[in-house]
Amino acid sequence: MNVEQLKNLLRSNGLKPNFTYGQNFLIDEIALQDIVDSAGITNKTAVLEIGPGIGNMTKLLCERAGFVLAIEKDPKFVQILHNIKKDFRKNFRFEIADALEFNFQDFFKDEGFDSYIVVANIPYYITGKILQMLMTAKFKPDSITVLTQKEVAQNVCAKAGDLSVLAISVQLFGTPELVQVVPARSFYPAPKVDSAVLKITLDKKQRYDIADEKRFFKIVKACFSGKRKQIHNTLANNLGIEKTRAMEILSELRIKPASRPQELTIEDWIRLVEKIK
Ligand code: SAH
Repeated sequence: MNVEQLKNLLRSNGLKPNFTYGQNFLIDEIALQDIVDSAGITNKTAVLEIGPGIGNMTKLLCERAGFVLAIEKDPKFVQILHNIKKDFRKNFRFEIADALEFNFQDFFKDEGFDSYIVVANIPYYITGKILQMLMTAKFKPDSITVLTQKEVAQNVCAKAGDLSVLAISVQLFGTPELVQVVPARSFYPAPKVDSAVLKITLDKKQRYDIADEKRFFKIVKACFSGKRKQIHNTLANNLGIEKTRAMEILSELRIKPASRPQELTIEDWIRLVEKIK
């Protein structure tokens, strides 16, 4: 589909790209094929797509997958999605809902699937939330292949020394890979920055044992926020730990008090959270 064809499609359905919903449609056919290829879909695979929009990726997914569930927040796409449903009656379902609220885990279970994957050009304004929701779900996908801003994909794939809360939340449960860069001009409207295909393969067996994930992320986030980000300061200022106790904990864990949060490894964080009572 080229820009003119997309504009016509939008016009004939009375639509305009809605920025508040992060609507940047991927129109480059080769990029669309590449993403779907890299997701590793067979005719048995169940796929969750978040934000199908005009359904250009949805159609490719329906052609290859055993089943596709697409969740779209913007009700304006109902007619387009209905039309796709006509061609793929057997293996396509869509819901008009907020993907952050919709219970897709029970949906797949109820439909009898014991696994599913996520493939999507997701709305960028909620990339972090979507990834965190998927990574910490009880019934996790086997893999997540999504378009993100290039910088976000690089962040997620960062190595120890350069970790962010997002990178930690992904690398705790899986292995991320930046598959390929997708230039801004492949979209309409073109976003300001380039994008990338990010593929996260989730661990079959959880690598780390974390008793309370909510508490873990609360503490990690607290340490990453604030101006004076040296770990001994954040433990005292953001978490209210007595200064001498904070120094004691850090020395027991052999973490330098002046370390910045991004310098800690995932193992450091796990041990640190365990020590904080
Ligand atoms: N997949 C399409 C559209 C990508 S734009 C393509 O590649 O062309 C992002 C899509 O996500 C839009 O259709 C937007 O309406 C939808 N969206 C935005 N917020 C959402 C949410 N919270 N839940 C589900 N869909 C959402």
